[in-house]
Formats: sequence, structure tokens, C-alpha cells
Amino acid sequence: MDFDRINGTLMWYSYICDRQVWFIGHSIEPPQENEYLGKGRAIHEIFYQNSAKELFVDNTIMIDVVRGKELIAELKSSSKHLRSAMMQMAFYLYYLKKEKGKMFSGKVLVPTEKKSYDVKLTDDIEKEIEDKIRHINEILALDKPPAFVKIPFCKNCAYKELCFA
Ligand code: SF4
Repeated sequence: MDFDRINGTLMWYSYICDRQVWFIGHSIEPPQENEYLGKGRAIHEIFYQNSAKELFVDNTIMIDVVRGKELIAELKSSSKHLRSAMMQMAFYLYYLKKEKGKMFSGKVLVPTEKKSYDVKLTDDIEKEIEDKIRHINEILALDKPPAFVKIPFCKNCAYKELCFA
């Protein structure tokens, strides 16, 4: 599997908007601060004062929380985009299994809502991740971003000035 250009952020956005995947994958900086990124940073700062640790692996995955030798977790500011968050964590589990030969359990933690969601790497999820990695690589190989299609996420997107211009 070609992980070269894939990371957790791209996996998260691939469940939201392919056009945004292309912008991020081509290092195009957004013209404005993103509401979700800002909230995410605040949650991380508060949480890290207590217990969590970040672990950066191979320039590909940034794990928010490592507990013991078996559990990794991803912090989110809300459960609004839970499917994206769950698949981002599943991608981490997949990467660690395939590239490092290590099996972990995964969780998505939402401290502001006092919620946590278990993520398991099933055969079906592995297949979905492999399909997604291929899809992301196809998007990144395009000469220009995919056509603009308005979606609900646009109203809070850091790239909306580019897309709505
Ligand atoms: S403004 Fe909408 S279409 Fe443009 S990158 Fe953001 S989510 Fe995608």
C-alpha cells in the first residue's frame, strides 16, 4: 500500500471533501483560520495539561494519546464528524499493523462531551481504508482540485474564500 502522501489529516478530510484533500495535499495554506482547527488546538492544550502524550510516527501519523502498550486514542473537540474521526483512528491502527507489525486498540475521545468511542480494525474496515488510500492518491495526482460542490461543511471551511471566489 502506498502511504507516501497519506496522513491522518488527509484521511479525516477524505470523508468530508475531496477538494479540501487536494488543497491540503498540495500544501495550499487556507486564507483564514479554521474553526475546527482552532477548537481542536484548544482541546489538546487543556487535555495535555493532565494526562495525554503526542506521538509522531514516520511523518505519517500523529497519535494524540498512548496508554500502556495497547491503546491509542484521538482527541476531538466534538463528535460532529464522528465518522471521519473513527476512520482517521482506524487508519492509524491499520498503519501500525502494516508498517510496524503492532496491534493496538483505538478510541476517539471527546472530552468536552465526556464521550469515548471504540474503534476496531475489522476486515471490512481494512478494505475501506485501502480503498480510501487509493482514492486519496488519485485525488492528489490531479493537476487541479476537483470541481467545487457546495456541502454543509463549506460554511465553516477555512478554504471557503478560495471556493466561493
Ligand atoms: S469550501 Fe466547501 S468545497 Fe471548498 S474545500 Fe471547503 S468544504 Fe470543500
